[in-house]
Amino acid sequence: MARTARPLGHCSRCRRACWKGADDFDRWNGQTSRGLLVALVCPGCQTGQVHLEAEVKEATLDYANATQDAFGRTRVLPLTGEHGPGAAGAQHG
Ligand SMILES: [Zn+2]
Repeated sequence: MARTARPLGHCSRCRRACWKGADDFDRWNGQTSRGLLVALVCPGCQTGQVHLEAEVKEATLDYANATQDAFGRTRVLPLTGEHGPGAAGAQHG
């Protein structure tokens, strides 16, 4: 119903769609450039592509609060580690 119409992006390796709220959502890795999401790697591909994982793991990103701009590009900001209590995880699981 209220689900986002399009995924955050697709895995750079297998093209799997990355959806907010997916069971393994928090295990995806991503890489951004100037706040724009430029690469994603799904958990399954991380296992077999360790070097790529290392490449994209340079930053921890706040996927849960990702947004999309007018051009349909996904914007993700780095996690600051300061999330207000109860701000996220309302639909966990
Ligand atoms: Zn993949």
